[in-house]
Amino acid sequence: MTSLLKNFIDGEWVESHGQDSVDVENPANMQLLASTPLGTSEDVNAAVKAAAKAFDSWKRVPAQDRVQYFFALKSHLEKHSEDLSRLITSEHGKTLAESKGEVRRAIQMVETACGIPTLMMGENFEDIGSGIDCATVNRPMGVFACIAPFNFPAMIPFWLWPFAVACGNTYVLKASERVPLTSIHMFELIEEIGFPKGVVNLVHGGKEVANALCTHPQVRGVSFVGSTPVAKHIYQTACHEGKRVQALGGAKNVMVVLPDAMHGDLEKKSVATAVESITGCAGERCLAGSLVLCVGDEAYEKFKDGAVKLVETMVTGDGLDEKTNMGPLISQKAKDRVAGLIERAVSEGAEILADGREGVDDLPGYFLRPSVLAGIGKTMEIAREEVFGPVILVSKVRSLEEAIEWINSIPYANTCTLFTNSGGKARAFTSQVDPSMIGINIGVPAPMAFFSFGGSKESFFGDIKAHGKSSVKFFTDTYTSIYRWHSDSSIW
Ligand code: NAD
Repeated sequence: MTSLLKNFIDGEWVESHGQDSVDVENPANMQLLASTPLGTSEDVNAAVKAAAKAFDSWKRVPAQDRVQYFFALKSHLEKHSEDLSRLITSEHGKTLAESKGEVRRAIQMVETACGIPTLMMGENFEDIGSGIDCATVNRPMGVFACIAPFNFPAMIPFWLWPFAVACGNTYVLKASERVPLTSIHMFELIEEIGFPKGVVNLVHGGKEVANALCTHPQVRGVSFVGSTPVAKHIYQTACHEGKRVQALGGAKNVMVVLPDAMHGDLEKKSVATAVESITGCAGERCLAGSLVLCVGDEAYEKFKDGAVKLVETMVTGDGLDEKTNMGPLISQKAKDRVAGLIERAVSEGAEILADGREGVDDLPGYFLRPSVLAGIGKTMEIAREEVFGPVILVSKVRSLEEAIEWINSIPYANTCTLFTNSGGKARAFTSQVDPSMIGINIGVPAPMAFFSFGGSKESFFGDIKAHGKSSVKFFTDTYTSIYRWHSDSSIW
């Protein structure tokens, strides 16, 4: 019997009002780790009330003083990077190396947020009219909230809250109910840094908490990251209440392999980069490649052979074991879903070259090995749906133009990649594809903390994307003052 996790509200660890809970398991061995309470609107009211109260004084703390908390937090996170990473691996399943990469990304967000005094500066202009000056300042707005997914328990909340809080807002995080322990540890570190009470709050729960955040009158804006149907729902609900919303949704990411990328030294690099993109974090990344479109017969045959050979060498197992290349999926449901997509793809005519459903029965958790499926047709279910699992889909097209047309026919538009060393082809690709995060010989083109992050079409609902300079736009409002000073003839 595990005890229910607590919320962090107004600087205190408090019991949730939720009566129901969700079990948190280590997906590598099904060990019960904790129970997440499914909180209620009462929990949200308490957190938002504390955040709204804290805003009155936090917004008046000079930005260069606010960021001192983040300088301290950066060092504290560095010190705790190993224990945070081990916790991510035990509740999510990704390998320890992947967890460490995730924590590094979270720390980079804090480093970038330390630059808020510069990023947040406004604009002014003298003499917009005779003797009249004009100035625009960027001001914090109040309470912001984040509704986070399970797949990056540390990094994704950090895409958002450090920027919001460094800008002078206060915050409520609803972590994913499936991976709450990383957030708990992050909040212990936040508490140790000594942020003023109520500035950052944590509420556990599922959809009731998410919906209460979207409709609470004192919440000024909501950042959501998760699947597309929920992203749409959150966007519509919070927009209807007049809030700022950025809702990052699901993906179906395509990688295009041109013949020149399958010659000489490049062949191995192209295959390894694409396979890592698809199988890293067991495919549970919004920037994971899914479908590989090879241009021409030779690239197609070589890619299939290379991918099969590579996945045969991969070790699936507990992410805490150093030998492991790929950990488990998050749950039995996720595993069954991916296995079902593979089964239906085969019944629709896909050729299975490596079957990741085999050889996992002796493993104690929710494991699949990497699969390779070829002969993927545009209308197959698996070519259209987000897989979110380690399944390499390969197909052949006649030209780059055909590949671009295929990419742009997909409703999702998070990311896509081209493998080539031709500058002209790369330029044509980047200027014509719909996805808004584009890689050239990069398998996971994730913008760094100081660039903006977000897809387009069904992968993003909103106007302003996450992190980088976009965060100042999302987390502040502009106030413009126009000044006329009646001149004092003794000065002039
Ligand atoms: P999810 O949509 O199931 O859940 C995300 C959050 O929404 C959770 O906090 C959950 O409690 C809440 N939620 C779930 N159902 C809800 C409902 N009906 N009403 C209100 N709230 C609800 O997503 P997930 O399974 O946790 O994460 C995987 C998905 O997230 C994938 O589709 C992946 O592509 C996407 N994702 C996207 C990005 C991106 O940057 N675009 C990044 C990471 C993950």
